[in-house]
Amino acid sequence: MDFSFSPQEEEFRQELRDWLARNLPAGWLEGQRSLPEDEQERAIFLRNWQRTLYEGNWAGVSWPKKYGGRGASLMEEVIYQQEMARVKAPPVLNIIGIGMIGPTLMQMGTEEQKAKYVHKILSGEEIWCQGYSEPNAGSDLAAIQTRAVREKGRWVINGQKVWTSYAHLADRCFLLARTDSTGKKHEGITAFLVDMHQAGVQTRPIHQMSDHRDFNEIFLTDAVAYDEDIVGQVNDGWRVSIALLMHERVGVARQVFALQQQFDDLVAMSKALTQKGRPLIEDPLVRARLADFYAKTRGALLNYYRNLTQTMKRGVPGPEGSLDKLASSELGKEMLGYAVSLQGPHGTLWKEDAWVDGQWQDGYMFSYGLTIAGGTTEIQKNIVAERILGLPKDIKS
Ligand SMILES: Cc1cc2nc3c(=O)[nH]c(=O)nc-3n(C[C@H](O)[C@H](O)[C@H](O)COP(=O)(O)OP(=O)(O)OC[C@H]3O[C@@H](n4cnc5c(N)ncnc54)[C@H](O)[C@@H]3O)c2cc1C
Repeated sequence: MDFSFSPQEEEFRQELRDWLARNLPAGWLEGQRSLPEDEQERAIFLRNWQRTLYEGNWAGVSWPKKYGGRGASLMEEVIYQQEMARVKAPPVLNIIGIGMIGPTLMQMGTEEQKAKYVHKILSGEEIWCQGYSEPNAGSDLAAIQTRAVREKGRWVINGQKVWTSYAHLADRCFLLARTDSTGKKHEGITAFLVDMHQAGVQTRPIHQMSDHRDFNEIFLTDAVAYDEDIVGQVNDGWRVSIALLMHERVGVARQVFALQQQFDDLVAMSKALTQKGRPLIEDPLVRARLADFYAKTRGALLNYYRNLTQTMKRGVPGPEGSLDKLASSELGKEMLGYAVSLQGPHGTLWKEDAWVDGQWQDGYMFSYGLTIAGGTTEIQKNIVAERILGLPKDIKS
């Protein structure tokens, strides 16, 4: 397809640029981009940013208008991602709600669920988390052991989740639980919308190597949900969970836009840093790596566009999202690692002691997580092999 932008699309870009210039936090465009260190203050900062996006009608650009979104086309969504990456906009706090849970509810939720939850996801009034992974169920998600039992007209849930991003801030959780153990393990799972503010739900933060605490364990002890909190049918949760994962991979794949910006920043850093009085960019070995990263970042972007064309034709994301997720997450880790190593011994510095307040170090540590979240690199390779290349199935499965 043709990826040049029409005059109307360029108008959309300009409208967004003007809005960003007026509404980004003070000093952001000038490079003062540090988020508050304190977790509580950070959450308040991000809540305010989501509210600002929402009030400007920029929180859910591709969401349909009837759900409070802008109803943007996929091309406009591309422009949106480009511009947000260009200004390195603050992250969206309710990203799991906006990127994954809202779209899944629109696709598979009841009318009551849509009316009750979808709008509040966009406004940030309710923060959501995704309760899939467990200590013994990650890649093999169907092995979950958290159990929901129907008792006296309600569902009683017991078990443990782990790696649950933003659970410490969440009001609700999109949670998978086992409701039948008699058949195949994929067939006895149900998707619930669980209230996080109840006595049966406890969260415990996990301290990450980046010094952040965005992850949590969740302990469920006689937590309660009701029939109206089920998405899809009882024991139909596997199909629902896969639909949500498709949206998740599309989200991680959008990292491809940040990569273009990171490449430009890497070139700028190679010009600014010197070795024996000469800019690093004059070193032929550095130039060769930069050329390599240029080819890879452009390749990842063009591949993303090609896969977007498939999504446009089909109307929903397909297995190609795995290819984008794989390429952008692995390339991010490689490029950010190189950026840190280019700083020489200074690369070991941290936060305000390091080059540009340690943004490269922070990004490098987070880049490992992106090769795991939403399905690891190995799992994406299996999906690409089986569902795109048509190769035989993984022996284990
Ligand atoms: C940044 C981040 C955010 C996350 N947020 C959430 C969240 O909000 N909610 C949530 O539920 N989970 C979340 N997760 C958890 C994530 O989904 C799991 O970590 C992931 O699915 C891998 O599962 P695991 O950690 O149990 O590893 P395992 O599945 O135990 O895998 C261990 C290793 O074995 C490999 N492996 C496993 N199976 C195969 C196979 N068949 N073939 C080849 N290799 C294989 C894996 O690739 C990996 O290298 C998050 C993780 C990260 C890093």
